[in-house]
Amino acid sequence: MPARRVNPYRVKLHRDYAVQELAECLGVHKNTVRHWQGDGLKAIDGNRPTMFNGKATRAFLLARQTSRKRPCPPGTIYCFKCREAKAPALGMVEFIPGKGTTGNLTALCETCGTMMHRRANAAKIAEIMPRLAVQIRQAPSRLIERTPPSLNCDKPKD
Ligand SMILES: [Zn+2]
Repeated sequence: MPARRVNPYRVKLHRDYAVQELAECLGVHKNTVRHWQGDGLKAIDGNRPTMFNGKATRAFLLARQTSRKRPCPPGTIYCFKCREAKAPALGMVEFIPGKGTTGNLTALCETCGTMMHRRANAAKIAEIMPRLAVQIRQAPSRLIERTPPSLNCDKPKD
């Protein structure tokens, strides 16, 4: 059975929920709520039957989703089409400087050719993309010049 993705925003912040109510609100089985409890979801102290505070529940579910997101290993970018971290096609990555020290790494997925993006700190490019020659897209000032591809450019113009 595939894990069902719950929407934490269905839990109302200013409400308390019994196990069954919470299960119905999120469209999951009661046992799932019990399972969350085992995973660290705190019930309201001293309440019988068990009640959960909406705000705490939402925070728990959001934190859980965030921690599930696996960071991409070095040398890869997440491909939304393949739904997994993929290496850049032909080892080609481009860095587009953004505001401040961050920017976007872009590359084509080696598997499906989809454009992939990954936010990155300029100082960490070498760490994120080890052994890959990352092209820095020309920005207004002071960044590494990029040599244009020179194909027969010494041919005289008529
Ligand atoms: Zn892909």
